[in-house]
Amino acid sequence: MKTMNCEETRSLLVALADGELAGPDRQRIEEHLAKCPECTEDLSAFADDRKTLRTIPAPEAPPFLVTRVMVRISAPAPRMWLSPALAASLVLVTAAGLWLGTALGRTLIPRRPSEEERYCAVASALSLPRLPDTGGE
Ligand SMILES: [Zn+2]
Repeated sequence: MKTMNCEETRSLLVALADGELAGPDRQRIEEHLAKCPECTEDLSAFADDRKTLRTIPAPEAPPFLVTRVMVRISAPAPRMWLSPALAASLVLVTAAGLWLGTALGRTLIPRRPSEEERYCAVASALSLPRLPDTGGE
């Protein structure tokens, strides 16, 4: 079994202190600690730090914290209103889009000829007499 070096050992000291190491890893780190005073010192310092941290009392929650959180959770979400500037911008963009679509539609899509225009086209192709002028259109 390959022996562990100091760098590998130090990377596993937390896991060792937490009791998360087992099997070959635990055996290798214990073999290294038996021969290495520096890593043993690091483990000891780490254990001391943990003991000190455990002596610090857990902070108490401020009074009414739970009540305030529950009130916030149950309160209705704030409504989202459009600002007047944004609403005006949306109206302008929509109007511009409609105008542009109409203008492009007029130029890109040919107008459907009226019935009279179609008759005249057929009549001139067949050399038929023209319709009398109706006065309209
Ligand atoms: Zn070492």
